[in-house]
Amino acid sequence: MQAFKCERCGAPLEVSPETIIAICPYCGYPNHISGSIDTEHIYIAPSLKKDAIYQAFMKRVEKDMDLRRLKDDIQVVEIEGHYVPYWRGRVSLTGEVKYMKRETECHTVTDSEGNTREECHTVERHYHEFIDRTMYLMGSARRQVTDFGINDIIEHYKKNSPKLKPLKDLNEDEWQKIKLEILNTEIDEQQAKMLMKEDAVDVVREEYKAKSDEIEYFRCEPSEPEDVRLVLLPIWTVYYKYGNSIFKVAFSGWDGKDVAATEPMTALRRAMYIGGIIMGIVIGGVGAAAISSGAAILPLIAGAGLAYYSGSKVLAGTRIER
Ligand SMILES: [Zn+2]
Repeated sequence: MQAFKCERCGAPLEVSPETIIAICPYCGYPNHISGSIDTEHIYIAPSLKKDAIYQAFMKRVEKDMDLRRLKDDIQVVEIEGHYVPYWRGRVSLTGEVKYMKRETECHTVTDSEGNTREECHTVERHYHEFIDRTMYLMGSARRQVTDFGINDIIEHYKKNSPKLKPLKDLNEDEWQKIKLEILNTEIDEQQAKMLMKEDAVDVVREEYKAKSDEIEYFRCEPSEPEDVRLVLLPIWTVYYKYGNSIFKVAFSGWDGKDVAATEPMTALRRAMYIGGIIMGIVIGGVGAAAISSGAAILPLIAGAGLAYYSGSKVLAGTRIER
C-alpha cells in the first residue's frame, strides 16, 4: 500500500483502506484520503490534559465506596487519550400516519332494579396524525464501534455538550496544547447523510409501532440533513491494576466525566452480579428512549452490544457501570 504523508508538515500518516480523512497527529491538519468531506464541517472539542484525567480518576476512586477500600492496592498503569470522530446533523421530517390502537372502553350500566355496574369492552380506535418534526442525530464515524466508551460518550454529549472549535481555525501551536491521537474517519459525509435520513425515519416508525397495535399507513419524508458536522470528541481511558487484573475507566475528555468502567468485583458486587446482566439490557431500552426525545444515535446497536458486554464482563469477575 501507498505511504501517506501529511500535506502540511510531511509527517507519516497511518491510513487503512477505509480511511476517509486522516488528521495529522503532529500538526492537526486534516488530510483527505478518499470519499467526500468538507473541511469546513470538521469541529473539535479541545481535551483536558492527561493530568486532569488522572485527578478525575483519583476523585472517582475516593467517591466510590467499593473502590475507596481498595485504594492502596490500585495502581494506575496507563492513561491514554484519543479524539474519536462522530457525525452529527439535523433532519426534518414530514408525513402522515394512520394507525389502529385497541383500547378498553368502560361505562356504567343501570339495570331495572336500579343497581349499577361497570361494563368494559375492547374497541379498535383509528388515528390519523401528521408528522412535522426536527431531530438531531449523532453516531460514530468509524465502521467498528467496539472501542471502549465510544457509544457512552454520545449519551454524555447529549447532556453536556462541549464547546466546539472549527478544526481549520486551530494553528499548529494550539494543536500542540490539545493534541491526542485521532482515530481515522471511515464514514464520509455522503454516507453519513444517508444514514441520518434512514435512521430518522426508523426512529419515527419505531415510535408509532410502540404506541399502536397496527400501522395502517405510513409516509415519512426526511429532509436533506442540515448543520452536518464531523465532531472530534476526546475520550480518555485509564487502565489500572488491582490484584492480577487490569481494569479500565473511560472519561469524557472535555469535562473529565467518567462514562464507562470495568471494575474489580468486591464481595458486595459479587452478590449483585446478576444485576449487572440485567442492567445492560435496561440500558439498551434507555438508549432507544433517549433517541425519541430528540437527539438520536446513528448506530443503534449500542444497547444490545452493552448487554452482551456487561454479561461477559460479569463472568470474568468484573463489573461494568455507567
Ligand atoms: Zn502534519
